[in-house]
Amino acid sequence: MSKNLGPVCRLCRREGEKLYLKGERCFTPKCAIDRRPFPPGQHGKTGSRGGNRSGRESDYLRQLRAKQRARRVYGVLERQFRRYYEVANQRRGLTGLNLLQILESRLDNVVYRLGFAANRAQARLLVTHGHFMVNGRRTDVPSMLLKEGDTVAVREGSRSLEYFKVMPDLAESRTSPSWVDRDIRQMSGSVQRLPERAEIDGFLNEQLIVEYYSR
Ligand code: SF4
Repeated sequence: MSKNLGPVCRLCRREGEKLYLKGERCFTPKCAIDRRPFPPGQHGKTGSRGGNRSGRESDYLRQLRAKQRARRVYGVLERQFRRYYEVANQRRGLTGLNLLQILESRLDNVVYRLGFAANRAQARLLVTHGHFMVNGRRTDVPSMLLKEGDTVAVREGSRSLEYFKVMPDLAESRTSPSWVDRDIRQMSGSVQRLPERAEIDGFLNEQLIVEYYSR
């Protein structure tokens, strides 16, 4: 499956639930899924989201949807997502939790979790443009996997940009999970540990994803 370049709210409407892809807007009445709670497209209002003739989703469809939902939330292409699954499967512990922890440890996600971007898509763009350093070294790889103790900071040369002048105030208004530590005024942060399941979005169903790949 190729990368989605269309309006992201369509993805939520297709899934029938909020995927929180737009950051702050998702928590306002402007959220498309609140305003138009039916699938996108010509037959959206009358059409279904799939399933068999009785209208019930098959196990396969539920597993597929769970996998697609996670892919969309983290903005990961199919091939890379499968690779993450394989790595998660080789690690000790629960494969599903391992997979979510790998996704959460991506640099773009950490930048988002630190509150330095409104959503993961913006975080990815900021990283791709080389505005961040990891452990003191500039990087432009959003898929870089961070581990406990790694530090993230806005590059010195980027701090005079308009975005980063207002970013600390924006970040103050965003919450940040306790598995990352941040110094908003210094525009830096670090990974304290991997997140626990309760600290990862509850609407993701890692068990169904594992079932999908174990078929
Ligand atoms: Fe999804 Fe956010 Fe758009 Fe609502 S505003 S439909 S949660 S991306």
